[in-house]
Amino acid sequence: MRPAGFLGGVGPPFRMLDPGLDLAEHLLAGEVPDREIGLSQVVAALPDEDAAAVHLNDSLEILGVRPRLRRSENGWRLAIGEASADFSSELAEAVTMLAVLVAATGWQRIGRCGHHNCGRPFIDRTMGATTRSCPYHRRKTSG
Ligand SMILES: [Zn+2]
Repeated sequence: MRPAGFLGGVGPPFRMLDPGLDLAEHLLAGEVPDREIGLSQVVAALPDEDAAAVHLNDSLEILGVRPRLRRSENGWRLAIGEASADFSSELAEAVTMLAVLVAATGWQRIGRCGHHNCGRPFIDRTMGATTRSCPYHRRKTSG
């Protein structure tokens, strides 16, 4: 059973966490260079949650994350860095949104693809955290 956090069983606010969380998934999978912030070590450390947290906190420290509220079309969003975002700001936002996701739902949404010979890290966005495959293999099997 999921602990009752501020999400109250509604499911993660993926829309609120994007586009940062989307970039975080690509960073975890090593598809985007993370500029030595060490984010890949987060996945490598799991299922040791305390070790994963140390690595995630290290990444936040390196990036010097400073969250801000910023008005958007649909209300307010959590923003990291300057409005004219360069890639450093995007990195900081990605790692922050990953940390928010873990704080809200725990580590079980950061998984590795169970498909034969894949093992690619992915972020599970299903309501019940039931996905076992990365986005590529999910697409292949469902469509
Ligand atoms: Zn896969």
